[in-house]
Amino acid sequence: MTEPVDDPTAERLAAALRCATVSTDDPREADSAAFDSLDAHLLASFPRVHAELELRKFAHSRLYRWPGAEPDGVSAILLAHQDVVPVDDAERWTHPPFAGVVDDEFIWGRGAIDDKSRVLAILEAVESALAAGLRPRHSVYLAFGHDEEVFGGEGAERMAEHLRAAGVRADLLLDEGGVITAGVVEGVRQPVATIMLGEKGYATVRVSVTEVGGHSSMPGRQTAVGRIARAVSRIQDHPMPLRLTPVIADMLSRIREVMPAPRRRLLGLAKLAAPVVTRVMATQPQTEAMVRTTTAPTVIRGGVRANVLPQRAEAMVNFRILPGDTVESVLAHCRKVVRDSGIRLELVGMSSEPSRITGPGPAFDLIADLARAVVPGIAVTTGIVPGATDSRHYDDLAGTRCNFAPIVLDERDLGSIHGTDERISRVNYARLIEFNRRLIEHFATVGPPSTSGADG
Ligand SMILES: [Zn+2]
Repeated sequence: MTEPVDDPTAERLAAALRCATVSTDDPREADSAAFDSLDAHLLASFPRVHAELELRKFAHSRLYRWPGAEPDGVSAILLAHQDVVPVDDAERWTHPPFAGVVDDEFIWGRGAIDDKSRVLAILEAVESALAAGLRPRHSVYLAFGHDEEVFGGEGAERMAEHLRAAGVRADLLLDEGGVITAGVVEGVRQPVATIMLGEKGYATVRVSVTEVGGHSSMPGRQTAVGRIARAVSRIQDHPMPLRLTPVIADMLSRIREVMPAPRRRLLGLAKLAAPVVTRVMATQPQTEAMVRTTTAPTVIRGGVRANVLPQRAEAMVNFRILPGDTVESVLAHCRKVVRDSGIRLELVGMSSEPSRITGPGPAFDLIADLARAVVPGIAVTTGIVPGATDSRHYDDLAGTRCNFAPIVLDERDLGSIHGTDERISRVNYARLIEFNRRLIEHFATVGPPSTSGADG
């Protein structure tokens, strides 16, 4: 049973939450002062880390190198991000989102779960390891981005480039993504830890058309607005096919072990009747996202006045791409289903391919063991991050990638991430620190889970 964190530890996280390090689409609009005060807070709170680790900054991103006792090899790259998403309606929060309120049970504020608790928990663990005289056998990197919520182009991408150029190859890449959920997986009473092994790809397709325009009293067969509406509806009505990927099959077989008998029987069919399983999963948005490339028309615009024919109309459709599909195959699929040669289809903004999924190996077993030690009685499964995280920039730099934090969340907590009343319990924060502490202790005493690493 983990004891809740004490007041000084809770306060160190709360003080970080008071720095409103909100990510903006335009980096020039970011509040540099907020990142500077977070920087000052981290320097003051973790003196040993900043005296003994090498710190290199990329804009406001922080890349730490903790040199190992042995010159070769890298145990891990531990990722977390310092930035947060904006707050939609601060009035609806119990405590102001950037007040960093601490009460008997919770630490409140934007970033309490996503993702400052992970930044601070890693630093707490390294600080206490240094105080205890521990040193990793092989080097450990900490990489804390400052623009994860806007795709990491200035932070994670540059830090990863730096590591790549230095020839770094780690055994483990650990980042946010999966957590331990309670009462979320239907029919399973035990809390379930989902250690995610990769993430889906991302693409936005712009659908646009240009027409001559004119008076709306003589419109012809269809206007630009009508053509776009039809194209979008064709894309939405013809989603990419359902598919059971190996990682989701693995996830299901692990969940099956802890399910009550009737459900277990259904899942037992997974191998024989993947189409049945995927069809059942497709009935809920949360599970459908695991078995297909999702299609979400998010923006539509066109026209200026009710009595003027629009000259231009466009829409944006956002796709989250399942391993096996690609950015290119999504675009080709759109072309095929729209069936209107006058419609222009093109990729806009950030796009990324689905990550390479490494099977659960020794590094996965290590993370699973640590999760079980910190939260006894859990079931452990695998999965894939439906969104995009900074770790995609580091995909090629580690043998095994895990997206996971050992905090126990219910539906309400999950809704607070990017939503209202984000907070972390003192117990969950203690679990996070303890998990990182044990991970670092493992690196210090028995070395990495395998010895393939190389430090440049
Ligand atoms: Zn995050």
